[in-house]
Amino acid sequence: MGDESGVARYHLSIPKSEDPRLRVPDAPDVGDDSFRGDQLRLLGSAVRVAGQGIAILTPAVESTGPRVAFVNNGFCEMYGRVRDEVIGQPLLVFGIVERQHSIFEAMLNHVFDRNAFEAEVTAQRKDGSEFELELQIVPVEDSGELTHWVSFLRDITDSKNQIVTLRHQALHDVLTDLPNRMLLFERLEKALETARTEKTLAALLLMDLDRFKEVNDTFGHHFGDVLLKQVAIRLRNQLQPSDTVARLGGDEFAMVLTAPADMNAIALAARRSLDTLQQPFVVEQQVLEVGASIGIAVYPTHGTDARTLLRRADVAMYAAKQANAGYSFHNQELESRTPDQLSLVVEMRGAMERDEFELYYQPKLHLRSGLMTRAEVLLRWNHPQRGLLAPVSFIPLAERTGLIKSITDWVLDRTLQQCREWHDGGAPVHVAINISPKSLQEQTLPSKIQTALDKWRIDPRFLKIEITESSIMADPAHALAIMSLLQSMGLRISIDDFGTGYSSLTNLRQLPTDEIKIDKSFVIGMNDSDADLAIVRTMIDLAHNLGKQVCAEGVEDEATWVRLGEMNCDLAQGYWISRPKPAAPFMQWLHDTSWGLKR
Ligand code: C2E
Ligand code: CA
Ligand code: CA
Repeated sequence: MGDESGVARYHLSIPKSEDPRLRVPDAPDVGDDSFRGDQLRLLGSAVRVAGQGIAILTPAVESTGPRVAFVNNGFCEMYGRVRDEVIGQPLLVFGIVERQHSIFEAMLNHVFDRNAFEAEVTAQRKDGSEFELELQIVPVEDSGELTHWVSFLRDITDSKNQIVTLRHQALHDVLTDLPNRMLLFERLEKALETARTEKTLAALLLMDLDRFKEVNDTFGHHFGDVLLKQVAIRLRNQLQPSDTVARLGGDEFAMVLTAPADMNAIALAARRSLDTLQQPFVVEQQVLEVGASIGIAVYPTHGTDARTLLRRADVAMYAAKQANAGYSFHNQELESRTPDQLSLVVEMRGAMERDEFELYYQPKLHLRSGLMTRAEVLLRWNHPQRGLLAPVSFIPLAERTGLIKSITDWVLDRTLQQCREWHDGGAPVHVAINISPKSLQEQTLPSKIQTALDKWRIDPRFLKIEITESSIMADPAHALAIMSLLQSMGLRISIDDFGTGYSSLTNLRQLPTDEIKIDKSFVIGMNDSDADLAIVRTMIDLAHNLGKQVCAEGVEDEATWVRLGEMNCDLAQGYWISRPKPAAPFMQWLHDTSWGLKR
């Protein structure tokens, strides 16, 4: 507004009007500004009926300022006034509201200095109603002398409202009308700026509802939506007006606390948020209980920029979820992980939706017949930046953060889907999947497996579960119970990485297993190390004495293959036979190889 440099000075000839008070100088007959008489008349009627408001004012006469000499129809309509009420009035006629008197004064100053002026203001109509006005007033000169002012007025209420609406839509979540991720980020950065200058704290709380997916699955999305709206209202209600609650999508919410007194105050706010969700929700006569987990990162303790705080709050949230702790601050233990891992946790959460995980298959061969008995399913992550990741670089992290559960579900589902496809295509492949210790502890594992088997119509004997010796030893009683249950369901069970977990012989005898896999660390070097060879031989005999099959993993050369055959080992798996491959190349391998498929 009022930026002189940006405002063009108009040198206009004013048309003759019927209004006798408007004295129009003769049109100078130079350049584009010159008009003939008929053109002037045309211009005059154009001005009268123009869509925007136009006013012509006399030059400022000392203290009184310019006065209205002419207004067009548009002007009268805009203000709800008749022409007679307007003619002869000073600049107050523009109706700039009282609260914008500084703009009015700026306009006066420009006018007294004979400068053009332009501004967006709020103006009042005759009836007192307000509208948004774009106002221009420009001096008209003739031979260097100021003769009149012309003012152009445009009602911009609609377009302004539209911009406000568009901005609102871009920055808010449609369902709950809470700020969205983008606005949260803006607010967080603003809060950090204030905290920096005023040397206060600022806190970011990330919240994820527990069991929301179940609600959605059981009652439907509409139901879930209603619930989310109620959650939004409760969260909003218990925060200070200066704090922000945002919905980040799904069942994830975030809160920014500005200038909390200390860590206690932050913990209290987290506690209150959890408490407010504690009271049951009622959606369509259904009573629902919804828990939540909150991760907290505080400026400046846990980070000084928005991105870091978001990442750390996210990690803390998973820690809270895993520990069933309600809320959890970002802590030293999490801090000690490399930044690489921190961001990996965040990325891993979206990896499944983005379909970045992929299953690889590696055959297990029957040593005597050379037939493939089964394929082990090995997970890979096609990371968009880091490339193909092996499980060692993300499974342990997934275990610590609880993400392993959904990964296991995914692996199970996709594996059986793949089996279905192969079986339908005439290749009755048996598969083995790896179950991590965390998933083994999950009470619902057997029912999940059953559901997946039913879904893809796969006979349980096609599926083997590989459980590491050490995860069994972590809680032998529980492992025994789960393994027995799985076996009774008709599944095959294998003890993985055998030889590394110090299980006692008694334990081994009791465990319901079909197979023992000798850890590759013994197999890889067995032709060069008498000790390893002795261990492998002992393990083979031991397994046979207990009536179980033995599989040697890590067979990297033919000599090892031959040696294992001589020692009566049952099965072999390793790079020499085939590296793990994605489904299609794996099928191709099976098709091309001289080794066949055991049916
Ligand atoms: P594992 O169950 O012991 O799987 C065998 C590993 O040995 C695989 O590594 C395989 O690629 C590798 N391997 C196979 N043959 C040879 C060989 O001749 N020489 C050598 N040096 N290595 C060989 P990978 O795929 O990197 O998997 C590592 C571990 O990650 C697996 O060890 C398993 O514990 C875990 N894992 C893999 N997929 C999954 C999964 O879907 N869920 C869970 N919970 N864990 C998985
Ligand atoms: Ca395995
Ligand atoms: Ca293994």
